[in-house]
Amino acid sequence: METAQLDHARTALKKYFGYDNFRPGQEEIIQGVYDKRDTLVLMPTGGGKSMCFQIPAITMEGMAVVVSPLISLMKDQVEGLLANGIAAAFLNSSQTLNEQTTIENKIYHGEIKLLYVSPEKMLSPNFLPILRQGNVNLFAIDEAHCISSWGHDFRPEYTQMKFLKKTFPDIPVIALTATADKITRRDITTQLGLENPHVFISSFDRPNLSLTVSPGQKRYEQIVQFVRKRRNTSGIIYCLSRKGCESLARKLSGAGYHADYYHAGMTSRERNDVQTDFINDKIPIVCATIAFGMGIDKSNVRWVIHYNMPKNLEGYYQEIGRAGRDGAPADTLLFYSYSDVMTLRDIIERNVSEQESIQLAKLERMQQYAEALICRRKILLNYFSENLGDNCGNCDICKNPPALFDGTIIAQKALSAVARAKERIGVNLLIDILRGSRRREVLERGYDKIKTYGAGADISSRDWQYLIQQIINIGLLEIAYDQHHVLRLTDEAQRVLFGKQKIQLARMAEVKERREKGKRDVHKEKKRNRVKNDLFKVLRQLRKDLARKKGIPPYIVFSDASLQEMAAELPVTEVDFRAISGVGDVKMEQYGPIFMRAIARYQAEQGGGKNTKATLDEKSEGMIQLLKRGLPIVEIAMRHGLTPEEVSSRLAALYANGADVELKRLISKTELKQILELMENLPDPIRRKDVVAALDGRMGPEKVDYAMAYIERNG
Ligand code: ADP
Ligand code: ZN
Repeated sequence: METAQLDHARTALKKYFGYDNFRPGQEEIIQGVYDKRDTLVLMPTGGGKSMCFQIPAITMEGMAVVVSPLISLMKDQVEGLLANGIAAAFLNSSQTLNEQTTIENKIYHGEIKLLYVSPEKMLSPNFLPILRQGNVNLFAIDEAHCISSWGHDFRPEYTQMKFLKKTFPDIPVIALTATADKITRRDITTQLGLENPHVFISSFDRPNLSLTVSPGQKRYEQIVQFVRKRRNTSGIIYCLSRKGCESLARKLSGAGYHADYYHAGMTSRERNDVQTDFINDKIPIVCATIAFGMGIDKSNVRWVIHYNMPKNLEGYYQEIGRAGRDGAPADTLLFYSYSDVMTLRDIIERNVSEQESIQLAKLERMQQYAEALICRRKILLNYFSENLGDNCGNCDICKNPPALFDGTIIAQKALSAVARAKERIGVNLLIDILRGSRRREVLERGYDKIKTYGAGADISSRDWQYLIQQIINIGLLEIAYDQHHVLRLTDEAQRVLFGKQKIQLARMAEVKERREKGKRDVHKEKKRNRVKNDLFKVLRQLRKDLARKKGIPPYIVFSDASLQEMAAELPVTEVDFRAISGVGDVKMEQYGPIFMRAIARYQAEQGGGKNTKATLDEKSEGMIQLLKRGLPIVEIAMRHGLTPEEVSSRLAALYANGADVELKRLISKTELKQILELMENLPDPIRRKDVVAALDGRMGPEKVDYAMAYIERNG
């Protein structure tokens, strides 16, 4: 019984969504729902929570009702479901009465499998009859943390959702969230009145997100370098202030990058426009405050940059989590500077609140993460009480483990300067002293007289910044946050100062060198991936055109992950195309032929490329040979699983590019002559479709391709 149900679920996964396997946990959760168990699902953003109620909804009798707090998110999900041929709809206050009635009628006729509603709608009295008559099989509460006043998006209406279990004790409830802390979890269970729920906590690891932290100097230059390598991909740059968002967007636009901004100071209309354009791949870069990205489901955000450091690791993880939801590689970059830490500290301290000490401690964890010299993912997952066995291999530290050197003397210079300045200086003044600066403050306070003045002039101030951060990080210096952030020596510092203990530091030069090597490696890989990337670009453009025609976001047509797989696998037959992840029945039917044609065309162009006779791909070579053996086009097409049109257009392209295609087998001398004469009488520029029209059915259109190929090759 159980396995039959799960077989059914797996078939639906492939048929509707085009995926071959469930992700860890999904199957178990779905089985629980089939067994009518209440369920609590904790999964990171992009983990695949929706599937846990969508598959049961599709495969069970009746309709599932999904409560979702954000109208934009609702619309997005319904659009995605419809594009996969699933009967979904939403009801909320943004609709006219008429629209609502239409949907209600469909519900009464059992024509809806998934109904999304806002919490307000769910609670409204006129909705109850619909619930009673709509043959509901499951309630799903999305973003369930909104129920907890402890959580960060508290929504009072959510707390009344208890009536569901009271009114419909036999219908299972599945609550889903990406916020994992214990208090929120308990709140969800009790407030919804879940009975002995099946609690599922998935790993919070997101291995496809690369993690990089970079020093906060020259941020703009670093950003330009970063986005230059990622032209036309979608990304978000989070900034602390509204002004920061605006000025960065302007600067990038001025430099020829298409960027816009988004923050709470704009009208909701303006914000909506930016968000829509971002979703539709019309604006690739958005500089935004942290609210941006919360209500959208866009799966192909390829990168996230934090211009400023977030306040805590929860926020950071949630924000970078908006990248790479499709599971394809995505990059994250965090700028870290000491002055950002100070700014955040001041903000926390100014907003006197009971939680101040918690917030400060969280900030400190964030800072430790940014300064770390061990695998960053380990630190992150540790923070979420999860243990990552091995190093991740996809963070800057893993990719370039720092080489350490004996930093005892350097540390002694710094520590001694702090001691001689009577622990009254902060980081910047310390660097000034070490470098022998003539700045007024240094001279006025007599620091040019102390023994270590100028003792570190051979190290740049940027490198000193980096070294002192490490010295703080390994616990030799402490920052007295309550005393204007002056530096204090720890007990351990005394031992280093008096030569009783040696210490290890990572050198800035190392970092630079390693970065160079990284660049060289990237170069090699780039070459290998060129073909793949070029085709990916072609497919991406095709996706964009199709999406525009249909008025849906591009990622609803296909995810980046699907396009990348197509570019690598080059599927040109239905069987191969169906094997691509994300290709279900409806997508196969609607887009399969179009995309396969684009891939075949691309291959044909590449295969016969100007100077690449030697690199003809196997398929093209095979076709040329079959042609030589005298096989008709229809036969060649069958053997290659292509349409005759695809074969003839590829052969024409191959011939035009100098490949050894026997043209006489494709078009007779008389036919060629006729077409050439016809073309002479047509006005320039000669277009294929004009020639085809002029032929008026006397010959097939493929003959025009051959003739045009003849001209292209022979002039
Ligand atoms: P969440 O709601 O947890 O943030 P989603 O449900 O939006 O995540 O899923 C994120 C992405 O992963 C979507 O593009 C979804 O189609 C995809 N996905 C979900 N389940 C699977 C699966 N079993 N195999 C492949 N992709 C999946
Ligand atoms: Zn790592």
